[in-house]
Parts: sequence; structure tokens; C-alpha cells
Amino acid sequence: LKVVEQVEPRIAAATRAELTDQRASLKLIASENYASLPVLATMGTWLSDKYAEGTVGHRFYAGCQNIDTVESVAAEHARELFGAEYAYAQPHSGIDANLTAFWAILANKIEGPALTEFGAKTVNDLTEADWATLRKRFGEQKMLGMSLDAGGHLTHGFRPNISGKMFDQRSYGTDPTTQLLDYDQIATAAREFKPLILVAGYSAYPRRINFAKMKEIADEIGAVFMVDMAHFAGLVAGKVFKGEEDPIPYADVVTTTTHKSLRGPRGGLVMAKEEYAPSVDRGCPLVLGGPLSHMMAAKAVALAEARTPAFQEYAQNVADNAKSLAEGLMSRGSKLVTDGTDNHIVLLDVSSFGLTGRQAESALLDAGVVTNRNSVPSDPNGAWYTSGVRLGTPALTSRGFGAAEFDRVAELIVEVLTNTEAAMASTGKPGKAKYTIADGVADRVKAATDEL
Ligand code: PLP
Repeated sequence: LKVVEQVEPRIAAATRAELTDQRASLKLIASENYASLPVLATMGTWLSDKYAEGTVGHRFYAGCQNIDTVESVAAEHARELFGAEYAYAQPHSGIDANLTAFWAILANKIEGPALTEFGAKTVNDLTEADWATLRKRFGEQKMLGMSLDAGGHLTHGFRPNISGKMFDQRSYGTDPTTQLLDYDQIATAAREFKPLILVAGYSAYPRRINFAKMKEIADEIGAVFMVDMAHFAGLVAGKVFKGEEDPIPYADVVTTTTHKSLRGPRGGLVMAKEEYAPSVDRGCPLVLGGPLSHMMAAKAVALAEARTPAFQEYAQNVADNAKSLAEGLMSRGSKLVTDGTDNHIVLLDVSSFGLTGRQAESALLDAGVVTNRNSVPSDPNGAWYTSGVRLGTPALTSRGFGAAEFDRVAELIVEVLTNTEAAMASTGKPGKAKYTIADGVADRVKAATDEL
């Protein structure tokens, strides 16, 4: 940072401050982690300076021999780690991985057959009328994914995201009583809606998915089965999710981020059955620009780390620790969505503390516990204030926390929330944003987190 300081001291200072803050707080954001030093070091190199549009061995720029090595090694590790037929390491983020996957599926299922029908080799050979027909067909396609308030992700067809503008979308939720996925309900929705793509995957669902059942549903209606394992890729890599809980053997296309439970650099990956490989390989220029070569290199390093026995142990600890955190919260009277967890996420319903998710998130932050507010199923407070707080174990497990530490974390969370009161709004009802914490509690919890 000394060299950065000479150019822009504010950036050096902010970077140092971030390290101090991350060390001083308890990072419970389910999508965050601590990348290793080899991963961090690989991100900051001159590989960043090279343009390499295209794909391995087929670039639009000269001199890409080293980038070919980088991209090939990243893809090789991804294939071997996950047992995938094909892997693509270029997406810059999870959203880019999903966009690449959606357009690869559209290229495969809609564009390819249309080109044959119109007697064209590529889209450049289409007449204006053919092209208008093809564009209309893209816009008519349907997607079925998990609803946002049940824990799905914005990129699975929701209107604020481009996926919701590209596809006619419907969603499946969870059972109102158990808050678990109901495969019969998903099958009924799929039969009725007949989507081109059935998406499984989540950002805030604290349970595993049976991918064999989802694949059966997709096959019955002839849909492409896509899994977004952005959140739980580390648990798949670490073989905590096996058999029917491993999406790779079942899904046609699997996307992931590399920075959450997988503990790599920020970025995305797409894996697919061989049939989709040529379309996914067109990610650049389909929806991506020049690949971030330094980030592909860092993905390769992280994936190499994830192939070690130490990572398998880490992944098992992530899941075991989530159980300890959940039990610690429930034994102290807290209510959890689905009454527990069997992945890395714990979704705490804070309405029993008389708080909104926003109040709970802010009060916890005051006490040095970093979380994010999150909707619970059928949330009466909507997506901004919410009634939940999402907690995750990947980051603190990387710091070496075990069952005892997570039980203590649960105790501290309950201490903060039981001592936080929603401030009254001008209507005389509890407001949704303001709150007060009883004197001394935030400092006491902060001091306790320092000991952990
Ligand atoms: N998919 C899922 C399931 C996610 O949870 C997220 C991120 O929160 C993404 C995709 C998007 O990832 P990124 O933020 O890297 O674009």
C-alpha cells in the first residue's frame, strides 16, 4: 500500500481501514468470505493489462499465449473439482455468469434451430424479416425460478433485473407452514407454465435442494434445467452436498460465483453439459467483453485450493457451524425460517424481538456484528425493511471459529436484539427504521467480539 499511498492516499487509507474494520467485526454476511493470500496476490498483477477477447486458442488479439494457459488451468480445475463436462471461467461476476448461461441456452434452444429453419449459417446471414422473427422468439421465452421472498435471486427472472425483462417469468415459493420447497407444487407450476428454463438456486434459503427431483420436473416438461449454486458452491466443492444434493450431475447448465462459500476472488463460472459448451464458449462476445485475466488466474488458484482435503474440512465446518449457530439462537428463544439450517445460511426472523430487519441489522452493526437484512417468506414489511436478518458461517469459519465460538455469537446476537427497542413513529406505532439499544450493550458486545 505504500506505492498506492504515493498516488492516491485516500484509497490507501480506505483499504487499510477496511482491513481494520473486517478484523474488528464479526462478518456474518452469508455471501462474504476471506480469500487466501495466494488468491489476493494473484489478483494484483500485470495479467490485468492484457486483452484476450475470444476463447482459448481463438482470440481476437495477438500475444494471448499466457492468458490461454491461465484460462485453461482455471477451467481444468473447475471441471475436475466439480466433475463437470465443461467449464467457462470468463464471467466477471455471478450476474454475468447467469447472463452468459441464459443466452447460451437461448442460442442453443432458440437461435440454432431458427438458423436451420431460415437456411442461415450465422445471424449475419438472416434477412431483416428472419431477424425480426428471431428477436420476437427470444422475447417469448419463459423462465420458472424461486421467488425472491422465499430466498431466490434477482437474476432468476425478477423485473428489476435484466432477466425479468428478457423472460416471461413465474416463480415457485415455499410451503407456507414448513417454509420448505414443495416439489409437488413446483411440478404443478412447471406443468402449467411450461418454461424453457427451470432454475434452482437461492441466496437466502437455509436448506439443501434435491436436484434429482428438480431434474425430473424439468425433464417431464422438456425444460432446460439450470442451477445457480453461487451461494453453496463451496459446499458442493467440499463434498458436503453429495448425491442428489450435488447439482452437477443433474443440471444442464450450472452457474456460480467464486467469492462466496467457494472462498475465491470475486467472479463467476459457468459449467455445462457438453451439448451447451459451444454456446457458453461464446460468452464473449455474446454478453461479455475482454476477460479479466488476473481474475481468471485468481479463480484458478482458489479452485486449486478447493481441491485440497483442507478445503473439504473447511466446507464441513461451515455446515456444522451453521447448525451450532442455529441451535444457539433457537435455544435462546429465537425464531428461524424453516426452524433451522442444513447449509451455510441461518435466516433469523426478528419479528419476535419486535424489530424490523432494518432495525436489527443496524443495531447488530452498532455492536460490531455485520449481517444483512432479508425478507422472510410472505414478509409483511416488504423487501426494504424486511422482517429477517440473514446470517452465514463461511467467513468466520475461515477465521477458525468452531461450535463454541458460534454458540457465543448466537448469545451476543440475542443479547443485542433483546436489548434493542423499535422507536415509535409519529403514528404512535413502532417505526420501521429507528431504534434504541439499551445503554452499554453495544460496547459490551463489541468487547466480547474482540475476545473471540
Ligand atoms: N446468484 C446468486 C444466487 C447470488 O446470491 C448472487 C449474489 O448475491 C448472484 C447470483 C450475483 O453475484 P454477483 O454479485 O457476483 O453478480
